[in-house]
Amino acid sequence: MSSKTKITVAYGDGIGPEIMKATLAILEAAGAQLEYDVIEIGEQVYLKGISSGMEPKSFDSLRETKVFLKSPITTPQGGGFKSLNVTTRKSFGLFANVRPCKAYSPFIKTHFPKTDLVIIRENEEDLYAGIEHRQTNEVYQCLKLISQPGSEKIIRYAFEYAKKYGRKKVTCMTKDNIMKLADGLFHKTFDEIAKEYPEIEADHKIIDIGTALIAERPEIFDVIVTLNLYGDIISDVAAQVTGSVGLGGSANVGEEVAMFEAIHGSAPDIAGMGIANPSGLLNGAIMMLVHIGQPEIAEKIANAWMKTLEDGIHTGDIYQEGLSTKKAGTQEFADAVIERLGQKPAKMTPASFDKEDTKPMQIKLRPQSVPKKELIGVDVFIDWNEAGRDPNVIGEKLRKANANGLQLHLITNRGVKVFPEGMKETFCTDHWRCRFKTADGGAISHGQVLDLLKQIGDLGFDFIKTEHLYTFDGVRGYSLAQGE
Ligand code: NAD
Repeated sequence: MSSKTKITVAYGDGIGPEIMKATLAILEAAGAQLEYDVIEIGEQVYLKGISSGMEPKSFDSLRETKVFLKSPITTPQGGGFKSLNVTTRKSFGLFANVRPCKAYSPFIKTHFPKTDLVIIRENEEDLYAGIEHRQTNEVYQCLKLISQPGSEKIIRYAFEYAKKYGRKKVTCMTKDNIMKLADGLFHKTFDEIAKEYPEIEADHKIIDIGTALIAERPEIFDVIVTLNLYGDIISDVAAQVTGSVGLGGSANVGEEVAMFEAIHGSAPDIAGMGIANPSGLLNGAIMMLVHIGQPEIAEKIANAWMKTLEDGIHTGDIYQEGLSTKKAGTQEFADAVIERLGQKPAKMTPASFDKEDTKPMQIKLRPQSVPKKELIGVDVFIDWNEAGRDPNVIGEKLRKANANGLQLHLITNRGVKVFPEGMKETFCTDHWRCRFKTADGGAISHGQVLDLLKQIGDLGFDFIKTEHLYTFDGVRGYSLAQGE
C-alpha cells in the first residue's frame, strides 16, 4: 500500500459542495491514497472582507501540499473583489492551463464526434496582468504584457506535452497581424522552439480564423498553444462544440504547485438541487491523480466513468431521450461510477495511464543574450479637450517644446496620425499620443525627456503617461503609428 498524498481541497460555492462530495466518494471507492486539508474559499471569504477570496492560512496549505483540488466559486458582483483563480495562478506561478476537450459520441450529443484536442493556455500574462488605468475623461487603458520567458515556457510546455502524450501536432494561435510586437514575440518564439521538435508538426493560425475552425472543424486540431485571453475564449468554444461543457476538467500547472478543477462555474441556478453533473471536477481529479503518481487509480476511474456514460446513466444536462437510460442526480451518478470501478468502456477507447505519464516535464529555458538598448525618443500621452479638439491646435502648441533637439514628430489619436497632415474625417477623443524624436533619430538622454516634460507642463498640458522609444541592437522596439 502506497503512502497517502496530502492535497488541499476546497468545496467552493453553488454546486461546488455537491460535486466535490460526489468526486471524493469516487476517489475513495477507487482506492486513491489521499489525505485532505480542507480550506474555505469563495463567497463567504470575500464577504469577510478578504478581497482575494482566500485567507492567508489557505495559501500556507497550498504551499505545503502543492496540490489543490478546487470546486468552482461564485465571484461576488461589484468592484474590489479580485478573481481567486487569477490570484492563485499568478501567486503560485501556475503558468500552464491545460484543458482537454474530447467528444464522447454517440453517448454525448455533438456534431463533431472526432474531436480530441488539448488547449494549452498561457496563464500568467497578457491582459490578465490586471494593470488598468482611466487616463482621461473618455479613455481607459488595460496593459497587455507578453514576456519572452513567459512565452518560451508555455510553448515548450505544449511541445513537451505533445511528446509525452503521443500527440502529433501543435498549433499556435495569435493575432500578430495586428499586434506585431507582443503577439509577434509569441509567434516568433513558437517558430524557434518548434525547430527543436522536428517529429511534431507545427503550424500557426491567426486567432480569429483559428476560433472559427474550432467551431467548424475541431477534429483538425491536436494541441493548441495560445496567449491567456485567446485561450480563455477558445477553451469555452472547444468545450461547447464537443458538447461537453459540463464534463471538462482543467489543470493549472506550475513548477511546484498545481491546481485541478472543472471548467464550469458554480451554477447558482441549480445549486442545492442535487442534479449537477460532477464529471468536470472528476475529470480534473483524474488529471490530479496522474500528476501525483497514482495513474492506475486515475485509469480505473476514467474507465468506470466512460462505462457509466455508455450505459446511458446521465445527469440532466446531458440526458437525451432515446439514448439515455436513466436521468441520475449527482450522487446517483457518482454511485453508478463507483459500481463500475474495474470495468472498461465497450465502445469508447479506454483510458490508459502509466508511470511515464506521472513524470514531471522538464521545461528549461534557453539562455538569452542581452541586446544593446538605446533610447531614441518618447511618446507623451496628453489629456486635451480644447479648441474643438482640432489636432492642428495641439500640434502647433506642442511644436514650441524643444529639449535640445527632442521635438514633436507626430500626434496620433487612438493610433491614427492626426498631425501633421491628418485627415479631417478622423474622430478624435481627448487622448493624444505625441511622439517626440530628434531630427536625425539619434540617441537621447533621460535628462532631455525630463526637460521636455517640464516644457509640456509649462505650456499648460496635462501629460498622463510616457512611453520610451527604444531600439534593441538597432531593431525598433515600438510600433509605427498608422500613417507614420
Ligand atoms: P456556470 O458554468 O456556473 O453555469 C452556466 C450554465 O451551465 C448554467 O445554466 C449552469 O446550470 C450550467 N452548468 C454548469 N455546470 C454544470 C454542471 N456541473 N452540471 C449541470 N449544469 C451545469 O457559469 P455562470 O453562470 O456564468 O457563472 C456562475 C458563477 O460561477 C459566477 O459567479 C462566475 O463568476 C463563477 N465562475 C467560477 C469559475 C471557477 O471558480 N473556476 C469559473 C467560471 C465561472
